[in-house]
Amino acid sequence: MLHHNFTIGILVISSTILGLLLWPLIEYTIHRWLFHLQPPDNSPLLITLHFGIHGLHHKVCVILSQSLANIVNTDK
Ligand SMILES: [Zn+2]
Repeated sequence: MLHHNFTIGILVISSTILGLLLWPLIEYTIHRWLFHLQPPDNSPLLITLHFGIHGLHHKVCVILSQSLANIVNTDK
């Protein structure tokens, strides 16, 4: 039983480390090659969908970084 628990523990720890190493690569690949595809100009549905799953991601990042800059930059 102790040996079994040790094996499961090693599996959990090694899977977690592998996931942490692989995730940035997978996220970058999906983002760069899928989310940056341009939707066709004549499809409001695809334009809206693209903005909903990707455009907001960039908008929120810009708003957060501007807010943080305003908080940090006190000499304004
Ligand atoms: Zn993007």
